Formats: sequence, C-alpha cells, structure tokens
Amino acid sequence: MEESSAKGLKQERRKRRRVAQIKMTLICIIGIWLVVSMVICGVLLYKVHVLEEDLKFLLKNFTVSQQIGQIEEDANQTGADTGESAYLNLEAASWAGDTEESYGIAQAVNQEENLAQEGDAHKVYLTFDDGPSGNTHQILDTLDQYGVKATFFVVGKDDDKSRELYKRIVDEGHTLAMHSYSHKYSTLYSSLQSFEEDFSEIQNYLYEVTGEECLFYRFPGGSSNHVSSVDMKELIRYLNERGITYFDWNVASGDAASQKFTPEKLVENVTGDVVKYKTSIVLMHDADAKVSTVKALGPMIEALQGMGAEILPIDESTTVVQHIAAASVDPQ
Ligand code: ZN
Repeated sequence: MEESSAKGLKQERRKRRRVAQIKMTLICIIGIWLVVSMVICGVLLYKVHVLEEDLKFLLKNFTVSQQIGQIEEDANQTGADTGESAYLNLEAASWAGDTEESYGIAQAVNQEENLAQEGDAHKVYLTFDDGPSGNTHQILDTLDQYGVKATFFVVGKDDDKSRELYKRIVDEGHTLAMHSYSHKYSTLYSSLQSFEEDFSEIQNYLYEVTGEECLFYRFPGGSSNHVSSVDMKELIRYLNERGITYFDWNVASGDAASQKFTPEKLVENVTGDVVKYKTSIVLMHDADAKVSTVKALGPMIEALQGMGAEILPIDESTTVVQHIAAASVDPQ
C-alpha cells in the first residue's frame, strides 16, 4: 500500500516536472518569438523610414532624371557639360542662412529674413551660368537695350570668340564671375586638389583675358549638390580662405528643366518668386540650347521693372544667398 502510494507520488512529481518543463519551453519560445518579432519590426520600421526619406527626396527632385537626360542632350549639343540642371531644384529645399559665427566671411541671408513684407523693395540679380556661348552677344545686347547690368558665372573656353565675350561682359559693366573652368563634375569634385587646380585655372585665365580679378563663384550644381565626392564644406573653406564669395540662387527661372518652358513661362517663374523676396538671385543659363532664355530676357526685364524691382549686378554689397552658409564652415 505504502509502496504504491510512494510510486504514485513519484509519478505525480515526474508529471509535474514535465509540465513545468513544457511550460518553461513554451515561455522560452514565446519570449524568443517576441524578441525576434520586435527586432524584425524595428528593422522594418527603419527601412520604412529610409524609404520615406528617399521618397521625399525623389518627390522634391522628381524632374532630376528627366533633367539628366537634358544635361546629356545639352552636352551633345554644345560639346560641354552644361549642367547643374539636375540639381537645380534643390534651391528651395534648404538654403543656409544659419550664420552664428563669422570669420570675416560674407554672411548669407536667412531665408525668413529675406522674405519681403508689404512695401519692401525688391532687388533682383539676374545671373547667367555656363557661358560664354553663341547666345551671349544677344543676351548682352538685350541687357544693353534696357540699361540693365547682370552677372555672368562663366566657364573656361579658350577660343577667340569666347575671349571676346569675357571682355565684352567686363567692358559693359556686368559682373564677371567664376563657375569652374571645366564644369565637369566627375573631375572637379573628385578631390580637393582637383577643385583647387580647376579654381586656379579659371581665376588665372579670366584675369589674363580681362585684367579683372573675379571675386565671386558659383559651384556647378550649387553648394548643395549631391554629386561631389569631396565634402562641400572643404571646398567652401578653400574659397573662404581666398576671400571668394560664392552665390547660390533662390529663384530658378526653370530654363534648366528638360521640358522646354516657353519664354512666357520663364518670365512667370521668375516674377512669381521675386515678389516673395527682398533679394532675389535669379538662376538662368547662357548656353547655345537655351533659346527660350534669350527670348524671355526682354519681357522678363520689363515685367520686373513693371513691378518696381531694381535689377543689379552682384557686387560686394549684395545680400548673399547660399544653400550652405560659408560662415558656418569653420576655418582649419
Ligand atoms: Zn553650370
């Protein structure tokens, strides 16, 4: 009797132990499952976040792929890489202005500070990138006709016609400014050294041709471009050290876009934005293919003057518009 009850007790204990083991195993499985699910969720959430960022970027620059086609097309047409076109629409994305510290470097205006209030005057700086080209004479003629001065961010071209054009720009009181010698992203932005060499080349070349020391620069693709292999801040520091002020833009005419805007549309793009700002740096292009720009120029000047805007060439007193503020880059 006692023996059988002891046996029963043993069996009972064994049973309980087994149940406890099963419970523990289940708890472990559930625990592991929970941890794994959480990890998977975390990874998925992160991926969604990354995709969201990509999507935002793509939406903001949804014309990029079309425009890259345009760059290639332009390059074929003009024999040069004409373009930051693909990167131009970044202009509104983020522009600098955060200039807590300055090291004697031109201060970029903050976007909010630059918003025009009722009654504010509008200063407009028409800027032409990528020239000289077969259209430069016509652009200069139109500017002359209206008695307006502009700014030309030029690249290096060593033929006689181009040399004449650099001189004409200076002689007629426009601002001659630099836009790299080669305008080839692949070499220009491959290293700091490569950028330095290109910079010296364009600066020396323009000085040799015109006797003019250029003080202003525009990065091909803008300071906020996403193609440079070098941190743009390194290049900005290099310009800062040489006392060169670079300008981005806050108004894009749209002449870089692949879809061919009509001259009327270009005028509308510019006037529609100029009205928002006290200072507008207007991006346009001086390239053989940019016929609409040439046609738009006269009507654009008339429209701007009609709204009371003052059209000026960039000089040391110009409010600086930069996508990455030069003064935010520490000297080394
Ligand atoms: Zn350019």
